[in-house]
Amino acid sequence: MALLLQGATVRNGATERLKKRIEDLTAKPHLVIIQIGDRDDSAAYIAAKKRFGDKIGARVTHVKFAQDVLQEEIIKKILEYNGDTSVHGIIVQVPLPEHLNKDGVIDAIDPTKDVDGLTAVNLKRLWENKPGAVVPATTRGIAELLRFYNIPVEGKRVVVLGRSSLVGKPTALYFTHRNATVTVCHSHTLNLLEETKKADIIIVATGKPGLITRDHVLPHQTVIDVGINTVQGKLEEEIEGKKIVGDVDFLGVEKIVSAITPVPGGVGVMTVLSLFENLLDAYETQHAI
Ligand code: NDP
Repeated sequence: MALLLQGATVRNGATERLKKRIEDLTAKPHLVIIQIGDRDDSAAYIAAKKRFGDKIGARVTHVKFAQDVLQEEIIKKILEYNGDTSVHGIIVQVPLPEHLNKDGVIDAIDPTKDVDGLTAVNLKRLWENKPGAVVPATTRGIAELLRFYNIPVEGKRVVVLGRSSLVGKPTALYFTHRNATVTVCHSHTLNLLEETKKADIIIVATGKPGLITRDHVLPHQTVIDVGINTVQGKLEEEIEGKKIVGDVDFLGVEKIVSAITPVPGGVGVMTVLSLFENLLDAYETQHAI
């Protein structure tokens, strides 16, 4: 039976530490979350962020725009928050409606307030492994989970499934800097079975429920399931009335591998925690200036 890498356990341990860190600050760290449109999944992610922020004593402001909002209107709002010294972090919940230029919106965020680490400036810092690079929350969460469970990364073979700008690419880059040997797979990878079997750590971020099965894995491996998919039919878990599964066939794979993250309760929880770690780091950088 695999070791369960529980994000919830890490988060519970970190909550008191973050609370204490915030109590010692002169002002409350303040995160602004901008939501465009009314997607249910975005609303659920934002609610989770707000809940955790409240728990640790951070301030979270949720700003909503209509689905058909103009790009200029959002950018104007972001620029206002950039200039507001009571705001330490700004995130724009993705995905955005198609009529908006995602890069244009994200890059309007002041890089010192970009706690998702997704602006071009921060991605370049990450690319170059510069000190102070903001590691995107999901990537930081995965790294923190591995560290907590003493799973070594240096010199290991890490196979990342998915090459999105949000998860796959920054994760592959980050683990390259951590001296892992990294392979990136995507929808055109010819022999996924062969690639996943080369890994010590498999990180799956494809949005394809059940993509990774017992046939893809070996006993010494750690499997990190980033996927969050809402599915119909036979379901493994339910949260807040939504049925959530990962990209890994959990029941089949956990019988074989050495360690695995559950969905929910794994990487998703770590992403929220890491977002607030990034917010606190941003606060400290802004107050050190
Ligand atoms: P995207 O849709 O942007 O990217 C998916 C990636 O998976 C693409 O690179 C795609 O390849 C690749 N892919 C698709 N099918 C296959 C396949 N059969 N074999 C190998 N690779 C494949 O998704 P995201 O990166 O934004 O998100 C991925 C998943 O992670 C989603 O379920 C999302 O909900 C979840 N997520 C979870 C978070 C968390 O905190 N746990 C945070 C963010 C996302 P190609 O490039 O060729 O199209």
